[in-house]
Amino acid sequence: MPRKGEREKGRWGDVETGSRGNVKQPGFSPSLPLPVSPTPRLPHSPSPPLPISPDARPRVNVAGIDVDNLTEEETIAAIARLMESDGPHYLCVINAAKAVAASRDARLREALGQAALVTADGMSVVWAARLLGKRLKERVTGIDLFTQLLAQAAARGWSVFFFGAREESVRGVVERFTREHPGLRVAGWRNGYVDQAESNAVIEMIGGSGAEVLFVAMGSPAQEYWIAANLQRTGARFAMGVGGSFDHLSGHKRRAPRWMQRAGLEWLYRLLLEPRRLWRRYLVGNAQFIRLVIRQWRSTRQL
Ligand code: UDP
Repeated sequence: MPRKGEREKGRWGDVETGSRGNVKQPGFSPSLPLPVSPTPRLPHSPSPPLPISPDARPRVNVAGIDVDNLTEEETIAAIARLMESDGPHYLCVINAAKAVAASRDARLREALGQAALVTADGMSVVWAARLLGKRLKERVTGIDLFTQLLAQAAARGWSVFFFGAREESVRGVVERFTREHPGLRVAGWRNGYVDQAESNAVIEMIGGSGAEVLFVAMGSPAQEYWIAANLQRTGARFAMGVGGSFDHLSGHKRRAPRWMQRAGLEWLYRLLLEPRRLWRRYLVGNAQFIRLVIRQWRSTRQL
């Protein structure tokens, strides 16, 4: 976190609102007390028996990362089982840029390696698997999974905590989903601009909230580092990193039109909206990802 925070400081310092410097609350969000739904817990409905042991699960290695070969529905069923098993557990999503970052960053690789589930966030990962002669059933994006999990949380009575993004985004996402799912139990929320001194207080805040499911929206690799290092101490049973989802779902940033998402062009849309911030991630990142996959393809042919 501190590494990311330090790096982000200048970046957000240029932003008109909600920059790190402008975040009004150095500690907890003033938006507390939090809306806790009076809806009683619903009994858990039985989930289909999917194997959750890493050895038993079908996985496809793409650019050095083992990706679970599950549909979105199967992923949700697997998460429901994880919620009932000894934990805590977390899920990471993977795209081209993150795979390239992981090939150079041992800490990120380790965080991905310890994830109970890893799904393909980017179409590039699905295409790469195909090139390698393997098939991933479908792309399971972080933002869609997050939305589906909120519906599941409301139905199953899981209490959720939203951690990350700027105050207006996290607040907006809480407002939207409590409106859409009146039964949703929101344990709490906190913006993602946290320096090292505040980190323990945030962990205690999450722990004190009794949250069972934790969504962390700090971008990569900060969110993967944070979850791998701190999930155990938060007391949550399950966590996932959701990147910029709070910005998109609160309406503070637009998401690519459906046809671009389906065509695997979401990255291009984001690049056109924020070229200065994202050109390196997408243009350089995509080229490096292709190189990694071709190298892997060559090595599998030599076997
Ligand atoms: N962010 C944060 N804390 C920080 C830096 C960034 O909470 O110290 C948030 C930022 O406000 C944004 C998200 O992290 O909501 C990163 O979004 P990005 O689009 O980069 O994530 P991606 O989905 O591409 O991983």
